[in-house]
Amino acid sequence: MARGHQKIQSQQKAQEKAAKMKKQQGHGLSDQMKAAQKALVFSCAVCKSQMPDPKTYKQHFENKHPKNDLPAELKDVV
Ligand SMILES: [Zn+2]
Repeated sequence: MARGHQKIQSQQKAQEKAAKMKKQQGHGLSDQMKAAQKALVFSCAVCKSQMPDPKTYKQHFENKHPKNDLPAELKDVV
């Protein structure tokens, strides 16, 4: 009896855990998708490479085009 009860409890716990994880995963995925939609909005002024965020763009610019002037929108990026 005690054993069976425990089994049910652990099953419920497992289901709760799975549901929680599913929820978290779903949430994470939608966040990722949002980020992906937001991503690639920065396009390099020199080589037209697309960058997910200004930080990456600035790093790219400094690494790839050190002789070019930094675009105005990157001057504020830390
Ligand atoms: Zn570039």
